[in-house]
Amino acid sequence: MPEVIRRSERKMTAGLKEQDIYDLIIIGAGPAGMSAGIYAARKLLKTLLISKNVGGQVTDAWEIDNYLGFSQVDPAGLIKKFNEHVEKFSIEKIIARHVASLQINDDIKSVTTDDGKTYYAKTLIIATGKRPRKLGLPEEKKLGGKGVAYCATCDAPLFAGADVAVAGGGNSALGAAMDLIKIANSVHIVSITPLTGDPIYQDKLRSSDKVTIYTEHEIVKLVGDTVLEGLEIRSLKTGETKRLDVEGLFVEIGLLPNSDIVKGMLNLNQYGEIVVDYKCHTGFPGVFACGDVTNVPFKQVIVAAGEGAKAALAAYEYLISGN
Ligand SMILES: Cc1cc2nc3c(=O)[nH]c(=O)nc-3n(C[C@H](O)[C@H](O)[C@H](O)COP(=O)(O)OP(=O)(O)OC[C@H]3O[C@@H](n4cnc5c(N)ncnc54)[C@H](O)[C@@H]3O)c2cc1C
Repeated sequence: MPEVIRRSERKMTAGLKEQDIYDLIIIGAGPAGMSAGIYAARKLLKTLLISKNVGGQVTDAWEIDNYLGFSQVDPAGLIKKFNEHVEKFSIEKIIARHVASLQINDDIKSVTTDDGKTYYAKTLIIATGKRPRKLGLPEEKKLGGKGVAYCATCDAPLFAGADVAVAGGGNSALGAAMDLIKIANSVHIVSITPLTGDPIYQDKLRSSDKVTIYTEHEIVKLVGDTVLEGLEIRSLKTGETKRLDVEGLFVEIGLLPNSDIVKGMLNLNQYGEIVVDYKCHTGFPGVFACGDVTNVPFKQVIVAAGEGAKAALAAYEYLISGN
């Protein structure tokens, strides 16, 4: 650890020894968190990376064709490369655990995981990304993984020859429908608005005889006890309801930031994203955020990786100068 950090005079939480305290805990091992890990390690920060999974949303992508230096790389291959790079450095990792709560008020911050263990650090980087938005219907939880899916790239092959529906009208939904027409028997698109996804997708889908489009319709009920058997949809214009007999429903209605653990602690915008400045400062001393969980626009792998680098450098700057 750099001498300048060892000499830093920071208020210790009672009973904690210096060796129990990390310089930095990074929460999330998507592109942002992994990139932050590499930059922190190169600054010789004693770093702990805690994440539910490795790769984040990249694991849901079909193909990544816009990350500099990698043309048409499969997402698993890109994550493997990222992970191999992180593995080169001596970063401690806890994977397949999620952070359940945080305490950020003191100089020494604490992070508690779902198994009840608590870890301490002088700085934190929140790189928790986003998750799919749910419909909010009562049967949704019960039928999740039993016909109701949130990732067409991952689960579309399970519905070969089946009748399926896609909820949503944006690019994610239309992209899912494009995947599904290759393998499903029929695809119903149900959107509460007119379709907003790229016209090129719209044209292709409208010209497919497998596709039926219901715009200005909402899904009001999921039917099925143990597996999905159908949907009830309602026209927003006429109130008329209709049943669709489908075995699969892909919910593609946007993403929500994983910012619940900092709700009430950090400044969030109207979308629930953590508000950061150009150096990933959250406004709370020693707490930084990066990637898709923040208000930084353009949610892309390369942007998240760049923001992760900035967050680690900002954490280092804070450790050596207190700013
Ligand atoms: C289907 C799909 C296709 C895409 N295609 C492309 C593309 O072609 N090109 C492109 O550039 N971008 C693409 N993206 C966007 C890109 O994947 C994201 O912008 C990028 O992954 C964001 O990185 P991140 O690290 O900020 O967040 P994420 O990738 O969301 O990673 C967040 C990490 O935090 C972890 N986490 C969350 N909460 C907790 C918690 N409480 N405790 C512990 N860990 C937690 C998660 O498990 C995850 O590992 C795509 C996204 C999707 C969904």
